[in-house]
Amino acid sequence: MRFLDLNPNGGIGANCTICESEGFRFAIDSGLHPKHAGFESIPAHSNIERNSIDFIILTHCHLDHLGSLPILSREHQDAPVFLSYPSSILARRMLSNSISVMKRQRNELNLRELPLYGRSDLSSLYDRMKTLAIKKPFTLEKDGRSMDVTLHHAGHVAGAVSVEIKTKKEKILFTGDILFDGQRTLEGAQPLMEKVDILVTETTRGLSQRAPSRHRESEIVNLLEQSKKTLVRGGSVLIPVFALGRMQEMLVVLDEAIKRRALPKVPVFCSGLGMDLVNHFHEISKNTNRIRFNRKVLRSLGALPLPRKLEPGREPPVQGIYLVSSGMLVEQTPSYIMASSMLNDDRNSILFVGYCDPSTPGGQLIEAEHGSSFEFEAFDCTLPIKATIKQFDLSGHADRDQLVAYAEKLSPKNIFLHHGDPDARKWFAEALAPTGAEIIDPAPLQFYET
Ligand SMILES: [Zn+2]
Ligand SMILES: [Zn+2]
Repeated sequence: MRFLDLNPNGGIGANCTICESEGFRFAIDSGLHPKHAGFESIPAHSNIERNSIDFIILTHCHLDHLGSLPILSREHQDAPVFLSYPSSILARRMLSNSISVMKRQRNELNLRELPLYGRSDLSSLYDRMKTLAIKKPFTLEKDGRSMDVTLHHAGHVAGAVSVEIKTKKEKILFTGDILFDGQRTLEGAQPLMEKVDILVTETTRGLSQRAPSRHRESEIVNLLEQSKKTLVRGGSVLIPVFALGRMQEMLVVLDEAIKRRALPKVPVFCSGLGMDLVNHFHEISKNTNRIRFNRKVLRSLGALPLPRKLEPGREPPVQGIYLVSSGMLVEQTPSYIMASSMLNDDRNSILFVGYCDPSTPGGQLIEAEHGSSFEFEAFDCTLPIKATIKQFDLSGHADRDQLVAYAEKLSPKNIFLHHGDPDARKWFAEALAPTGAEIIDPAPLQFYET
């Protein structure tokens, strides 16, 4: 296999991988870097010639995997785009939201290249999409050679898949973003369990060692306890969430907790995109038993849209639970505004339920000392940290030890490290060395051959 990472910054960001095997050339994912905008946020698509890809596979609908797919697809118009059924539904909502965000950024950031694609690009992309069933090999033929593509359920988020590629010569597995453990709304991964020649593994959690006492379930119990404490003392709870996946899971968790009186009944406020996705999750869950979700949860919770008059630095008008995106308090998002309105009151809590990049406001707030001051740069306002800040480990990614055990099971000859920061990859390189496999930590924009 030949392997080329087009994510120009390395690490996690604008994910896009080009692979060649048995005369086929294909791409896996094409994302947007969440911390950049405009041309800076896209993979280095121009490093490969136009119309040279036979097919594209989308592993799932987080924007770091999906966000620049319309551009890649526009440059390779004959390439079908293979994806799972849930992703085919969720991709539409995510991409149309992405256009709205880019249009807004055009003025805010004065980037004339935005939006990077428009509605007509989306409809062309949708015409090229082909849904593949889980665990059913799909055979492609080219110049008398053939390749089987098989998708495997990967947990992580609705629709997420691992990708198995099989030719006469070799078997390759791309884990994609993967979670072996089940979530409230989603079954855990049902991964391939056979020997492969080449494994491309995600390495997101290479630097986080999970303490044995911190299981997913106990983290949820602790999150609910902290929420209860906060509400009882008259404070509000902010739970910053990713709109896709974590928001829907938290809706179900909160609803169950209120029903069994583990939480007092208070207003629950939710923000835009995650609420729209609720309807899509509902539709998808009717067609697959891997996703357990019913939109009735909104009525049962009495979920409300965010109050209109939110002002940075001003207290929220109603006490309650605020379940809003973004999960990392990215500037100008509802969670960023809410954090600025809640930080200066020791009755409130800001409870993180996912990964926060250290350079984002969320990551910085987690690291900051209680009582010190915190700057909301986008609002030019500095506030003392009086609210309780906590992080709970409900990651959508497999623990590093689980991934190492998985790699041992597949006993590949070559392992490519992917989707992880440099230090996280370093941990994996050491932990995987005893498998005897050749470990490759590919630098961006360079071809590697096995
Ligand atoms: Zn993801
Ligand atoms: Zn990812």
